[in-house]
Amino acid sequence: MSGLRTVEEQLEAVLAQVRALPAEVRPLAEATGFTLAAAARALNPVPAFDNSAMDGFAVRFADVATASVTSPVTLRVIADVPAGSGADPRLEPGTAARIMTGAPVPTDADTVVPFEDTAGGLADSLETAVVMQAPRAEGAHVRAAGFDAAAGATVLEPGVLLGARQLSALASVGLAAVEVARRPRVAVVSTGSELVAPGEPLSRGRIPESNGILLAGLAVEAGAEILFREVVDDEGNGPAEAAARAAALGADAVIFSGGVSAGAYEAVRQSLGDAMDFVKVAMQPGKPQGFGVTAEGMLLFGLPGNPVSAAVSFEAFVRPALLRMQGRTGIHRPIRTFPAGAAWRTPPGRRQYLPAVIDADGRVQPATRGGSGSHLSVGLGAATAYAIVPAETDEVSIGDSVLVMEL
Ligand code: AMP
Ligand code: MG
Repeated sequence: MSGLRTVEEQLEAVLAQVRALPAEVRPLAEATGFTLAAAARALNPVPAFDNSAMDGFAVRFADVATASVTSPVTLRVIADVPAGSGADPRLEPGTAARIMTGAPVPTDADTVVPFEDTAGGLADSLETAVVMQAPRAEGAHVRAAGFDAAAGATVLEPGVLLGARQLSALASVGLAAVEVARRPRVAVVSTGSELVAPGEPLSRGRIPESNGILLAGLAVEAGAEILFREVVDDEGNGPAEAAARAAALGADAVIFSGGVSAGAYEAVRQSLGDAMDFVKVAMQPGKPQGFGVTAEGMLLFGLPGNPVSAAVSFEAFVRPALLRMQGRTGIHRPIRTFPAGAAWRTPPGRRQYLPAVIDADGRVQPATRGGSGSHLSVGLGAATAYAIVPAETDEVSIGDSVLVMEL
C-alpha cells in the first residue's frame, strides 16, 4: 500500500512541533511524576559523615588487630555515642566508645567492632569491651563520608522521571525542592453523536463514551494535567469551539478522538480542517490521523475513534510528544522480543499494533480471541502490551520472534 505515511514519518512531523515546557520549582513531596528540568546536585555528601554500620564499639584498629578467641583484647569504654549524637570523644590507645548504627565515628577511631565480636555484647558495654575477633581491616564497619555521593556531585540528570526512589535520593543529599518541567496541560475531546456518558441508559444506536477516560488517563500517566474532558456531537463546530476554549486556558495539547476518517459526519475534519492535516499512516489500527499546531504552539491531535485505534495512536504519537515537551530522556517505551504463543494474520503493508499479553511461559498472545478488531474495547482491558508486527509481515506463526511494547 503506497501513499501511506510511515509511523516514523508521522511521529517526526509531530515532534517537530513540540516545544519545551517552562520549568518550575516544586517541593520534593509535590514532585512525583514530574520530569527533572536541571541536574540535581548534592548539597551534603552521602554518607554525610563517617558513621557506624553496626551496633558495637568504635576502636583504634591498631589496638585490636591481633584479637582472637584465644587472646582477646580488653578495651576500656569511655563514651557512648548514639545515633544523632554530636559528640566526638577523645579515644586514648586502649579505649573504645560504644557506638550505635548511624552514629558518627569519633575522629580518634578508625574501625568499628560489632557487639557480635565481643565477649559481653551489649551487656556491660558501658564498662569494657572484650574483643574476641580482630576486624578484617582498618575501617571495617565504618561507612565513609561521601562514599555514595560527594557534595556537589550530580545525583540525577535532567530528563529523569521523578518517582519515590528518585525523590528519596534527592532528599538524602539535602535538597528540599527540585526544578521540574511543568505538567503539560491537556484537553480531551471525544466526538460522536452516538456517545452517551458511561452508566447512562443506551437507546438504539448509542454507546457508552470510553475514549475520554482512556485518553485522559493515558495523558495523566504521561505526566499531563487535564484541563477539561468533554464530548461534542458530529454536527456543528464543537471541535473548533473546544480547541478555542483549550487555547484560552493555556492548553499545550488537545486530544480529539473520532471524526477524522472519510465518512459523512467527521466532526474534527470538518470543524478543524484548516488547522490540522489529515493523513493516512501505515499502521493498523490507527490509519487515519489528524495533527496540527496553533499559532500559540498548542498541539491538536485527531485520533481515530475506535477505542483500540485511539489507544494505539496515543502510544505512537501523543505520549512521545507529551514526554518530549517535558524534556524526558527516553520518550519511547522499551521494546523487547518475545516468541509468539499463537498464530495470527496481520494486515499487509501496515504495521500492526495488537493488544497482547505475555503468558506464563513468556510467550506473547493476542489479548482476546477477537484478535485485532479496533472496536474491541474490552480486549484493551486485558492487554498489558502491544505486539508490533512490521508492515512487511503478513502472518505470525507460533514461535516467531515478535516485537513487544510493554505498557
Ligand atoms: P469514528 O472515528 O468517529 O468514525 O469512530 C469509529 C468508531 O469508534 C465508531 O464505532 C464510534 O462509535 C467509536 N467511537 C468513537 N468515539 C468513541 C468514544 N469516545 N468512545 C467509544 N467509542 C467511540
Ligand atoms: Mg464518529
